[in-house]
Amino acid sequence: MIDSHCHLDDPRFSSDLEAVLLRANQSDIQHLVIPGVQHQQWSIQLLLAENHQNISNAFGIHPWYCEQHNDADLQQLETLLPHAVAVGECGLDFTADKPAEDIQQYFFQKQLELAQKFDLPLIIHSVKSADSVAIQLRSYPQLRGVIHGFSGSIQQANNFINLGFYIGIGTRLLQQRGQKNNTLLREIPLELTLLESDAPDGLGKHQRNEPANLIDVAQALAHAKNIPLEFVQKQCTSNTKELFSL
Ligand SMILES: [Zn+2]
Repeated sequence: MIDSHCHLDDPRFSSDLEAVLLRANQSDIQHLVIPGVQHQQWSIQLLLAENHQNISNAFGIHPWYCEQHNDADLQQLETLLPHAVAVGECGLDFTADKPAEDIQQYFFQKQLELAQKFDLPLIIHSVKSADSVAIQLRSYPQLRGVIHGFSGSIQQANNFINLGFYIGIGTRLLQQRGQKNNTLLREIPLELTLLESDAPDGLGKHQRNEPANLIDVAQALAHAKNIPLEFVQKQCTSNTKELFSL
């Protein structure tokens, strides 16, 4: 399998990353993609990819941190994109305590332009913002990517799919199983699904998540769709390779 979204550069992994990677390997994860969130972390990401052949990077500015960035950071981001498999994690998050919408929109749009310029896929964070994200994406019809950690409705998923996007399914969805999320797991086409841990997040506030838990996501999908686990693993791996050109 491939963990299409894990924050291995997060300080919560700094003391035992090798053990985390070993457990990932033992649980059949052959490759991992780190999305970028803020400029201070970019050099750590570069170092991780330099030291581990099975790690690839995306670089971007996460909507939560956009207030701490400026145009010089966007210029630096541009210099990193030749080393990236995607632009992101970028997007819009309209939860009440997040930065103002106009500054989020500014950095999101700049990163859409960069994805277009470098012909790279996008890793998009969208929370309480599905309509606004879709409006932005409609202005860039040639862009592709993944809506990561998806937990919206099946209609919203289909909207993004029609815009050329994959749907990232992660441990967070398993935390909040209800009728809506069971429907999502069942209905989202497997050919358009990526598996992700979003580690160290994804298991609630008090527990550190790690890539090895990706198997739980694959199992939940197999169960919801009533298909063999190997189908899920194989198809999602090929989807991720295809999107990120791995
Ligand atoms: Zn993330």
